Amino acid sequence: MIVEVTKGIKILQNAVIQQDKRLAKAMTGDGSFHITLLVMKLNDDEVNIGIDALLELKPFIEEILQGKHLILPFEGVDTFGNQVGFVKLAEGDHMNPLLEIAEAAKRTFQEKGILAGESRSFKPHLTFMKLSQVPWLRKAGVKKIDPKFYEKFISHRFGEEMLHRIDLCSMLKKKQSNGYYHCESSIVIGKRPIGIRDLINEALQRERMVLKSKVKQIKELLFQPETQAKIRRELFEGRSINNNNQENDVDFSATLT
Ligand code: C5P
Repeated sequence: MIVEVTKGIKILQNAVIQQDKRLAKAMTGDGSFHITLLVMKLNDDEVNIGIDALLELKPFIEEILQGKHLILPFEGVDTFGNQVGFVKLAEGDHMNPLLEIAEAAKRTFQEKGILAGESRSFKPHLTFMKLSQVPWLRKAGVKKIDPKFYEKFISHRFGEEMLHRIDLCSMLKKKQSNGYYHCESSIVIGKRPIGIRDLINEALQRERMVLKSKVKQIKELLFQPETQAKIRRELFEGRSINNNNQENDVDFSATLT
């Protein structure tokens, strides 16, 4: 997130905290601001499939954007059931391509068989606080985010952010030192990658893909009947050579004594 948007959200968070100090722990750290495209539950094998799917998604996104940048303006505040506070995306021409990107992501993951019917429709939002982060608040009587906490920001313009990266993140693994989620993989959007970190991540990912496809080839080869027969033959011959060696060892030690 760029400084302007982050700064605005920090001011909003502080305004809420000023009104109820107990809410400080419910605030999202500025290192982890993001827009969720979709949520999946994946095991380790499925994460690997997800990494492939994310790479496959990139050309679709490029087709949607047609070489243009996707600029997202943030404006106003709302909540999900008074439990999750978020900054809204303003209405405008950016909405269609963003919805198309979310659709393309869903389709790509579904075609790979790892997205079992996401029932929730995509509602772009930038979460700045979650009551669920502080379970004891409920017992302390704080059951919802009071709309008066954020009324001054109800139509506040927080600034714009360009879509420059899409990450496949783990919500459960330990976060990175910068406060952002653990990323399994990322794709950079747009012609010029934003930073060296993005460049390195993409290069690493390409390497990982090559390695993974080699491992896959080796696995397939290992399971072929002729390879297995060859392995058995070599193991058997190896054992008899070993047996001979053992005899030699015994002979040798016998000579020493
Ligand atoms: O996607 P993000 O991590 O910002 O979501 C924050 C919270 O908002 C999550 O707990 C999620 O379950 C909730 N949420 C919701 N309704 C949606 C999208 C997200 O209640 N349409």
